Amino acid sequence: MAFVVKKTISGNDYYYLNENKRVDGKVKTKTIAYLGKVKKDAKKKAEEIIRKMNKVKKKKIIQIEQVGKLGKVNISIDDMTSFCKRKGFVFRSGDIYGGFSGFWDFGPVGVEMKNNLKKLWWDYHVKNRDDVVGIDGAIITHPKVWKASGHVESFNDVLVICKKCKKPNKADKNEIGKIKCDCGGDYDWDNLKNIEQMFKTTVGLDTLAYLRPETAQLIFTNFKFVYNTSRLKLPFGIAQIGKSFRNEIAPRDFLFRLREFEQMEIEYFSDPNEKCPYKFGKSWILVYSEEMQKKNKEPVKMKFKEIYEKKIIKTDWHAYWLEQEFMWFVSLGANPDNFRIRQHVSEEKSHYALDTWDLEYNFPFGWKELQGMANRTNFDLRQHQENSNVNLQIMNNKGQKILPHVVAEPSQGVERAMLVFLFDSYYYDKKRNNVVLKLHPQLAPIKAAVFPIVKRKEFEKIAVDIIKDLRKDWNVVYDKSGSIGRRYSRNDEIGTPYCITIDEDSMKNNNVTIRDRNTTKQIKVKISNLKNILRKLIDEEIKFEKAGKLISTRIK
Ligand code: ATP
Repeated sequence: MAFVVKKTISGNDYYYLNENKRVDGKVKTKTIAYLGKVKKDAKKKAEEIIRKMNKVKKKKIIQIEQVGKLGKVNISIDDMTSFCKRKGFVFRSGDIYGGFSGFWDFGPVGVEMKNNLKKLWWDYHVKNRDDVVGIDGAIITHPKVWKASGHVESFNDVLVICKKCKKPNKADKNEIGKIKCDCGGDYDWDNLKNIEQMFKTTVGLDTLAYLRPETAQLIFTNFKFVYNTSRLKLPFGIAQIGKSFRNEIAPRDFLFRLREFEQMEIEYFSDPNEKCPYKFGKSWILVYSEEMQKKNKEPVKMKFKEIYEKKIIKTDWHAYWLEQEFMWFVSLGANPDNFRIRQHVSEEKSHYALDTWDLEYNFPFGWKELQGMANRTNFDLRQHQENSNVNLQIMNNKGQKILPHVVAEPSQGVERAMLVFLFDSYYYDKKRNNVVLKLHPQLAPIKAAVFPIVKRKEFEKIAVDIIKDLRKDWNVVYDKSGSIGRRYSRNDEIGTPYCITIDEDSMKNNNVTIRDRNTTKQIKVKISNLKNILRKLIDEEIKFEKAGKLISTRIK
């Protein structure tokens, strides 16, 4: 219960809002806010703060009621937005000036998670494959690139205004005349506007240029240089991670629709007559083909091999890459039941694409595109060859000169991927009474928190030595303030998989305790083995229970 107190110092009155809390069996008073020197204003401020505190408590109660059997909570995009702000993952860009729609900044733990995600994508798609290499292209490039690609002429969005709520929205070409606003109102289809999606800028005195709206075109313009310098033979892929910019009409849903975002893309080139040499995996996924959509049928769960053999997906390459992409998410802890692949219906498909499938995710606001994957044929290389007058042909494996086809173009937004992992790892533990973010250890912003069980110089010295050593390999934190329970919950909430505690036993026997975030189980290990064991745990090479001696403790 919060209450106002007056403190008189050197004859002046100062008002504070205090609260009594029971910590480790003792009642402690904590100051929540300074309320100023004027009693009347202080009372008003106090009422306002208490109202806000009650709102948060109410929200927490609602959240606890939604907790599923295993502690899984399905929260809304607004709740995720405020969670990310509270914990230092993501902030509105320019928030102190009211925010700037479509732009977000990543905070201390957000930037770590985002960097991990990009590295893991790169490892899976580039480092661990023989047939894919990377580039890092410029954000601003020759404006002729965007003329040749068709972006200058046709990268527009259709703006529609709702007759009822007056809000602007974007309509895809196949949606015109068919959809309604979220508020239920009709759109004014007689007054459509085309809005250019590329941001313009000036280079030097007056040269018009564009901020790139996708990373893909830089891959096409560098295609021949990469081929000539990397000793690749068809089939091969070129990958890139980098910023893209789109002047979206209606940026919304937190990190889902942004004006500045990052893409992780591959253009995979092949001779269209060559078969995919790779085998399919064994995963199942919900499939939603054009035929199912048009005949109002429900999506069906199938294996990728079967989807290709039944010719639901036209080429083996396309089916193979869709499975690879789905497996990347699942290998990092995403819930496979929240994914499906949906074919673009003819009316929405780009004119140059042979076939396009989206990997979709079941966001709290519905099934939406997570990753687009088109078979772009050789449209882009042809366009650049014609517009630049540079021959972009290369040899196929029969010694013939060809313009290879992009048989699959996995194109993934970094921020949409980040949302998937945040939603799928968001749990609430009723016993612990806090959020537990069950991120895959490799994605987790902080791999371990190290702390002395109580403040004692000897314990602190051991903790500092351990931190120094672990920091050579991972992002770890030294956390010595607050009760041990508070330190555990602080780390549970930001997804730290392991907490390492130093106590009397560390002094006497060189042992430390490791606590597992997901289960709260604890093991003892020797300090000399700690790094090796932590590596195995992070790489999921060993089960937690088998990594040391299981112990039972009062505080979980
Ligand atoms: P949408 O239909 O949702 O606008 P799109 O079909 O225009 O997406 P692509 O051009 O295929 O998107 O881009 C590939 C990927 O880049 C998308 O699947 C998504 O992950 C990401 N992406 C595209 N636009 C945005 C955006 N405005 N904000 C965040 N990510 C985006």
